[in-house]
Amino acid sequence: MANLTALRDHNAAAVLGRIRAARETSRVELAAATGLSAQAVSKIVQRLAAEGLITTAGQGPSTGGKPRTLLRLVPQARWVVGAQLHRDAATLVLVDLGGRVVRSGAPALAAGADPARTLDQLAAGIRELLATVPSELVLGVGLACPGPLDHRTGVLHQVTGLPGWAGIALRDELAGRLDLLGAGAGAVAVDKDTTAGVLSQPGSADRAFVYLDDGLGAGLALGGQVQRGARTNAGEFGHQVLDLCGPRCACGNRGCLEALCRAALEAGEPGRAAELLGEGVANLVRLLDLDEIVLGGRTVLAAPELYRDTVDAVLRQRLPDPDWQRVAVSVVRAGEQAVALGAAGLVLGPFFGEGDGLKPLGP
Ligand SMILES: [Zn+2]
Repeated sequence: MANLTALRDHNAAAVLGRIRAARETSRVELAAATGLSAQAVSKIVQRLAAEGLITTAGQGPSTGGKPRTLLRLVPQARWVVGAQLHRDAATLVLVDLGGRVVRSGAPALAAGADPARTLDQLAAGIRELLATVPSELVLGVGLACPGPLDHRTGVLHQVTGLPGWAGIALRDELAGRLDLLGAGAGAVAVDKDTTAGVLSQPGSADRAFVYLDDGLGAGLALGGQVQRGARTNAGEFGHQVLDLCGPRCACGNRGCLEALCRAALEAGEPGRAAELLGEGVANLVRLLDLDEIVLGGRTVLAAPELYRDTVDAVLRQRLPDPDWQRVAVSVVRAGEQAVALGAAGLVLGPFFGEGDGLKPLGP
């Protein structure tokens, strides 16, 4: 476990985050961007270079004084694994500091009935990826999974369809199975798949990642910040009730959007499922005034144009002034790796002084 300690200093993390965002920048620009003194920036830059995190990238144009030395991030200086736990499989990505996926894996898991065995299999898959990079350069592991769960404690609640998993301390159980040297709190971060999804690609400050897969949920960013709510359980979008007399949902209620979509899919009517999804998204846009919807999840990715075009059409019908209330609807660029990539951002974000996902991870 390298170097969370080296960057525990918030200023150093902010400088490093600034260098990543700018791609190439100088000490003078860093001081202006962070509000730190020239001496403080110089000291931090020296430390980051000694850690191997940054390097020089030639000379920038002079602004009258001596030429400015440009600095840039060394993406391969540290590594993070992002993981998504499905009910019967996992999606794993090994990413560098630039958020680039360099390796991936998809271990099969024992269909969720036995959490200890499933976690053993998940940990084995993660170890396999981590074995390809020096262990002292590993920052940590971000894990995304279905909720409800508590992001702060990493404890699962009553996850629909995973009855044996309620109360499992997922973060600590996984950390205990991984040989992350000196691993403490922060080496493993756990969040909802939907929240990780919204972190997976940059976009509008007011957007939702709408995820139709085994379940249906939405991750939210408002005013440029990811929203988790009072219990970090925001985004149970699939359990908005649209029909009080509708089919029974796995959550115990009737007529949830998720149950209606599921029924349409089981009846072989994906077009109907897409329309229902559009109605749910229209409700979300009315409530929160979003201007971007990113669709993801395996069900969407199996027929991306259908879901994108149908949700777009329903929004145009339902919003009173669709020309003014323009909403960009797209399918997530990283495809089936999007949520795992967002999970890596749970570890990368704090490393760059961005909190746990206040800014989206770049592609
Ligand atoms: Zn429900």
